[in-house]
Amino acid sequence: MTPDIRDLSWEELTAYLKSARIEPFRAQQIWQWIYPKGVWNFDGMGNLPKDLKERLKKDFLLGPFAVDHKVVSEDGTTKFLFDLHDHEKIESVLIPTATRTTACISTQAGCKFGCKFCASGLGGWKRHLSCAEIVTQLLHVKEESLKHPRPLSNIVFMGTGEPLDNFDNLMKAIRIINSDKGFNIGARHITISTVGVVPRIKELAGQGLQVELAVSLHGYDNPSRNVLMPVNRKYPFDELIAACREYVRLTKRQITFEYILIKGVTCTPNAVESLKKAFKGLICKMNLIPYNPVSEFGHQTPTRQEMLAFRDSLEDSGIHATIRTPRGKDVNAACGQLRHQRQNQN
Ligand code: SF4
Repeated sequence: MTPDIRDLSWEELTAYLKSARIEPFRAQQIWQWIYPKGVWNFDGMGNLPKDLKERLKKDFLLGPFAVDHKVVSEDGTTKFLFDLHDHEKIESVLIPTATRTTACISTQAGCKFGCKFCASGLGGWKRHLSCAEIVTQLLHVKEESLKHPRPLSNIVFMGTGEPLDNFDNLMKAIRIINSDKGFNIGARHITISTVGVVPRIKELAGQGLQVELAVSLHGYDNPSRNVLMPVNRKYPFDELIAACREYVRLTKRQITFEYILIKGVTCTPNAVESLKKAFKGLICKMNLIPYNPVSEFGHQTPTRQEMLAFRDSLEDSGIHATIRTPRGKDVNAACGQLRHQRQNQN
């Protein structure tokens, strides 16, 4: 199969040009057309000579995804469902707010982790996404962001799949996103969200990247985390917190814990006590996420008063916590919901 040019790192592109006896400065021109300018074909690369365009067309693929579905929410949140070459479907979301414009990107088709609040795991895991498939989502979302006042500023790997389970392709994509010749988005504006794949958290710490790490905690000890996160049986709560401590020690970066508020399950007084003990001395903050109901699971969202009381108790215990405003509820913006809904229609 012909390779996609967006699967090439900067070093791989320059090595290809060298082996093809093409001037090295063409690498920068090619990347400028693909990433900052967002052209979808080699013919659109105005300053490349015709013979080089023909050569690139012969050697590489470059094009948009087929868009299966696109929904724009009242708050501007725009959700894409893309149909890949093998007809796997993946989701990406553009989230414009008053202060930033964020792209939420998928890293796998389907998911093997089966968190009990998420629609992505319901259809099972299909495959890893390539580096090209990761950055192409971003090209689509970036194009869409031009309709909004603020340029694309933040990337979150919180779409379908577990990013750290597709580690090599993720790292390659992040280097393209972060490069000043690529998307030129600062590492601190890139967030990797993980269910807590302990060995990969340690590996990430050694990459020398200043990216943000968000850990899906969704439980306050082993028994409570087991309810929602099957991964906790493989990487238990205490091991996860220890890996997070190590990550903070090595990177000097703060960790964010994502914590879904579910009535009577995670939003309880003993949760606060347990979290206070677990986080002692750890540089972290908590994002509290009101549960976004998925019809297949029976959980309930706490009342606004219950959520505020929970947040205040955490703050009183010295844990910085904020309640995240759910966005795009009318377009099924929660992880995997659009994909799952479309699968059920087909
Ligand atoms: S939350 Fe993430 S890791 Fe868990 S099932 Fe959904 S996509 Fe997979």
